[in-house]
Amino acid sequence: MSEAPPVNHNHNHSTTYLETYVGVVAGDFVRRDAESGPGLRIEGTCPRCQGGTVSEYPYGLAGTGTKGIFSRRGAAPAPVSVPVSGEETALLREVHFCECGHPHPDLPADAPFVGCGASWRVAALSGGAGGG
Ligand SMILES: [Zn+2]
Ligand SMILES: [Zn+2]
Repeated sequence: MSEAPPVNHNHNHSTTYLETYVGVVAGDFVRRDAESGPGLRIEGTCPRCQGGTVSEYPYGLAGTGTKGIFSRRGAAPAPVSVPVSGEETALLREVHFCECGHPHPDLPADAPFVGCGASWRVAALSGGAGGG
């Protein structure tokens, strides 16, 4: 009956770093407003190491004149040629990377994110401000 603190006991710190695409994940991912400025952040659990991961995406969607969301890592995994009807649609097409913050074994010095190296897409997002 007591409220458990939000400690993640499932985070597997011994998972070896490996850049791997996990696939589409149907877990709970929450969309929120970014804290560092205009944009969005996606909170969820890494499907590989089970660590909590947060990714921030600045606004800059199709039609605004910037590459924004799709240029986050320098090279997009795949070209996105479909019309983007909204930021959420874009986020569902974006590949997310583990940013659990734990330096997993074999983490390269030039790793783009501190995590286990996993990448995935999300099947759905919950939360977020405003309806749409
Ligand atoms: Zn991970
Ligand atoms: Zn991790």
